[in-house]
Formats: sequence, structure tokens, C-alpha cells
Amino acid sequence: MTHIITSLCLRDSGCVDVCPVECIVPGKPQEKYPWYYIDPDTCIDCGACVPECPYAAIFPEDEVPNAYSARGGEYLSRIGLTGHYEGENHGGEAVILDTVKQLEAGEKVDLTDDIKPNYEYFKDGPGYGSKP
Ligand code: SF4
Ligand code: SF4
Repeated sequence: MTHIITSLCLRDSGCVDVCPVECIVPGKPQEKYPWYYIDPDTCIDCGACVPECPYAAIFPEDEVPNAYSARGGEYLSRIGLTGHYEGENHGGEAVILDTVKQLEAGEKVDLTDDIKPNYEYFKDGPGYGSKP
């Protein structure tokens, strides 16, 4: 199995340094790959990254919710969305995204749609063959 980063990720980068096998990488180009991604072949499911994420975006693959219930105000970041987000990452660098929307309280989102892109990024995408 692997852990999965979902579209609740706002590229904070806080999870990267805690991963003992260095398998978390920023999606590039950001316009096409808006999150950070976990290499499923390298992840050892230690769970160290989960509490580091300020947006609670990381789940074990078999616990990714298919009906995530929004608290309200959190951002979803997916290709096709057109909202604007500006913030800072873990290192104080600017994060700007134009692929977001803010969720309403109680809004349901199927986050299992985000599993496939994690695999594709490393299988067919820019992450193929790359190590961070
Ligand atoms: S800590 Fe969370 S928001 Fe930051 S890169 Fe990791 S998954 Fe994304
Ligand atoms: S579960 Fe552990 S090995 Fe997998 S991405 Fe998170 S920190 Fe890295």
C-alpha cells in the first residue's frame, strides 16, 4: 500500500522533510500537477507525514474518504477549478494557486478521485524515474 496526498494539499511542503525514504515530491509543472505527490513504490506507510500536514490532506490509501465532509473554508485544489489562493509554505515562501475552490461547511467531496493521479505522476508523468 501507500499513503496518498489528496487535493486538500496546498503545497505547504511540511511533509517532505519528515519522510524517511524521501518519496514526497512537489508536482511539476504546478498548473498540471497542483499537489505534492507520494511515490507509491517507495512509500513504506510509516505515517510520519500525516500529522505534519496543516490541511490534513494525507491518508493511507485505504482510508481516503469517498465522502469527505468539509468543515467549511478549506480549499480543494484540482485541475479545472479556477479560484485563486495565496499563502505561504512551511519555509515562508509564497504559494499561489489558481486551481482551487473553497468548500462550504458540510459539502461532500470524493477524495478517492485523487488516488489515481498519485500513481500516474510517477508511472507516466514527470515524476517517472525521478528521485527527489
Ligand atoms: S504538508 Fe500537506 S499541504 Fe503540505 S505538501 Fe504535504 S500534503 Fe501538501
Ligand atoms: S507514510 Fe511515511 S514513507 Fe510514506 S510518504 Fe508518508 S512519511 Fe513517507
